[in-house]
Amino acid sequence: MSKTTDMIDELTREPKIAYFSMEIGVHNDIPTYSGGLGVLAGDTIRSGADLKLPMVAVTLMARKGYFTQDIDATGRQVEHPSQWNPADYMQLLPWKVAVMIEGREVAVQAWMYTVQSLTGGSIPVFFLDTDFPENSQVDREITSSLYGGDKSYRLKQEVVLGLGGVRMLHELGFEIKKFHMNEGHASFLTLELLNRFKRPIEDVWDEKLVWDRKSVRDLCVFTTHTPVEAGHDKFPYDMVGRIMGEIIPIPVLKDLAGNDLLNMTLLALNLSRYINGVAKKHGEVSKSMFPGYEIHAITNGVHSFTWTCDSFKRLYDEFLPGWANEPELFVRVGRIPDDRTWEAHLEAKRQLFLHVKEQTGVEMSPDILTIGFARRATAYKRADLLFRDLDRFERIGSGKIQLVYAGKAHPQDEPGKQLIQNIIRYGERLRDKIKIVYLKNYNMQTALKIVAGVDIWLNTPLRPLEASGTSGMKATHNGVMNFSVLDGWWIEGHIEGYTGWAIGAPPHELTPGADADARDVEDLYHKLEHTIIPTFYGDRRTWIRMMQNAIGKNAYYFNSHRMMRRYVTEAYIR
Ligand SMILES: *Cc1c(COP(=O)(O)O)cnc(C)c1O
Repeated sequence: MSKTTDMIDELTREPKIAYFSMEIGVHNDIPTYSGGLGVLAGDTIRSGADLKLPMVAVTLMARKGYFTQDIDATGRQVEHPSQWNPADYMQLLPWKVAVMIEGREVAVQAWMYTVQSLTGGSIPVFFLDTDFPENSQVDREITSSLYGGDKSYRLKQEVVLGLGGVRMLHELGFEIKKFHMNEGHASFLTLELLNRFKRPIEDVWDEKLVWDRKSVRDLCVFTTHTPVEAGHDKFPYDMVGRIMGEIIPIPVLKDLAGNDLLNMTLLALNLSRYINGVAKKHGEVSKSMFPGYEIHAITNGVHSFTWTCDSFKRLYDEFLPGWANEPELFVRVGRIPDDRTWEAHLEAKRQLFLHVKEQTGVEMSPDILTIGFARRATAYKRADLLFRDLDRFERIGSGKIQLVYAGKAHPQDEPGKQLIQNIIRYGERLRDKIKIVYLKNYNMQTALKIVAGVDIWLNTPLRPLEASGTSGMKATHNGVMNFSVLDGWWIEGHIEGYTGWAIGAPPHELTPGADADARDVEDLYHKLEHTIIPTFYGDRRTWIRMMQNAIGKNAYYFNSHRMMRRYVTEAYIR
């Protein structure tokens, strides 16, 4: 206990930036993340630690994780709770805070995990947990699963994250100079701050209070990630009243969070001094979704050291020493000899194919052009776009390409699950012509294997639904080019035939219409057949030059060190 107290005393010595996120991928085996949002949060903290930023992070425990994915003989996703033990990775702190939920006082405790950098920097991550004997069984379940349950379950989780999180930081003795909300899930933290700053109006009855929005705003930074209206968490006020009680008077709350429903995004927008989207285009989309707010853009990045495979790490150590904490050094990628780049790539390819063989029994050849596609299986990502004209695809790809797929569908996303099943069926139909595998249980570890071990990285989102996308940035760190729809980060990273290839028209030339899919499919097949396949097999020199451009132009910029430096200068210290 006294050692723990000393440790917290040490941590609370200087003021911090508090980063709040519903999910954080701090470690592959801590299954409290579901996809891009959580992995980004992890990369944010890893870069913050490398750069020795004074930060702490707050997230929710998920005792049963997101879920572990199995795929049955018919191609159906089967979900199992993730088995893991928090005590293997983190330390339960003795301090307790309480939040009111449905009129019950719910005790919240925090587990502390430390993200430690080789530079000597470190950032503590507090996982809030309610699974303790003093809480009722329903309340113990609040921190059981990530994105599980119904709306009221989500609301309870957000109460624990936002209100519980601020109270916990206070209880531990932290002085916080900025609260950064990673997506709207955490925006109840603003209500706790409003309560902190409320003060009686002078000379008036003391139940008349000033709700000091300005002081709260000065403390808050909000990053939005969702380019569709339906993606923002909204709760009916009767549910809010029943679960949370009246944290602040309902008329004040409605004024901040919307009249009809409590909109978590609106609450964050109204109480943040600095607001941003996660790519230039997404900043614009957000502005048109929320007119009247000043919305900036800080394009996402990935943590270079985490997302570079071993063979490229060795190569960079040899030719670009210091690259991991200074990804700008990728600008000198031209110093790496072509044959060494190709060797490192072949090594990554072999590592992936070992994994493929082990899991599926399928033997893939390193000589064949390999396309990778792995991300959450959900309709807008259009994972099946390649198969829209099966005969044509077979004719183009027979004997010349092979495909590696992976990705989980949210347990309640039926169309997402259908996509997985369809891809597996197409794979069976094309079996003798084009090898297609669907790797199960996509996570950070398999993500690195796949992004590094394929030749091109495919992304086919329906515009403008990919706010940023980050897996393509991971690919570039391993010399893998993107072949993607111009949406999210790729609008900024794409130089045709130089860093990779576009699928379909650039956003400013886009004409809406029911044939949008068909036009993308046409371009996809055309480029594959007439540009990508011939270059891969016939012009290795150009291919390797493009690999180097992916590193020198894309990884150089789309890393989380650059991203964090921008958050510091544009959002945190203003
Ligand atoms: C990087 C990553 C993602 C995000 O991928 P996108 O293509 O940007 O959606 C999702 N899941 C895992 C496990 C990842 O590592």
